Amino acid sequence: MPPALVIVAAMFLTAAAHISFAQSGAGEHRAAAGSGEVIGHSVEGRPITVERVGSGPIDVVIVGGIHGAYEANSIILARRFLEYYRANPRALPEEFTLHVIDNMNPDGVHRVTGGTPIEEFDFRSADTVPGRFNARWVDLNRNWDGDWQPTSYWGNREVDAGSAPFSEPETRTVRDYVERIDPAVSVFYQSAAFGLWYSGAEDGWEPARRLAEVYHRASGYRLPEPDDGSGDSGGPVDYEITGSADDYFYEIGHPNLTVELTNHYDIDWDRNLAGLSALLEEIRE
Ligand SMILES: [Zn+2]
Repeated sequence: MPPALVIVAAMFLTAAAHISFAQSGAGEHRAAAGSGEVIGHSVEGRPITVERVGSGPIDVVIVGGIHGAYEANSIILARRFLEYYRANPRALPEEFTLHVIDNMNPDGVHRVTGGTPIEEFDFRSADTVPGRFNARWVDLNRNWDGDWQPTSYWGNREVDAGSAPFSEPETRTVRDYVERIDPAVSVFYQSAAFGLWYSGAEDGWEPARRLAEVYHRASGYRLPEPDDGSGDSGGPVDYEITGSADDYFYEIGHPNLTVELTNHYDIDWDRNLAGLSALLEEIRE
């Protein structure tokens, strides 16, 4: 090919690349007010976003806020991880990309805060229980397709699990993202049972149990023993939970941890930085 034609072809390819980039930018990668890539929307149309730090080949997904304003500290903790690793890039081993979905339930947060930024809102003085559920009053940790039941419980209180597994857009959004990224582990932060769950805990599923033990040893969060036949759920609460994220992830063979913070307000920063750091060290080996 004569040199002039090569140049023309290269220019054409460059232009085509720009066009396809612009088109994808208008769709899936639309940014939400400077807070990451939009991966889905809540029932009321609020964006659910992911922000990333690091660029290594091993993916880890962190999710906060499945129970909205009731567990707002899990959202603040997820954001703190982002801020910390952005400010201290050497603290994140270069093998990793961390994907942070800080708030899975923005409608539940908005129901309580009315739109006041989370960092400015006084959660201790508010009734945050209504903010546990999404806009349709569904408990998003009862809506996954893992032992899903139409009637589900939060303690001895009946809660709405949705009209079907994955009936809620928030649940579908996070499921789709985790399955698309296929991370080495996902960690969901919740509060406040001071303990760890993992996918397959009822069977002591080794790929997730090993990771839970590493987090447990570094953080000091309680790690219940595998089910001994006593009917214990294998988790830090003593009633059966249906349709939870960890049940679903066990069914698809994905190692998932749920970390339950100590209370509904503090982020237990030292515990969780130690826990996540140890987890990353374990995975990179
Ligand atoms: Zn919760």
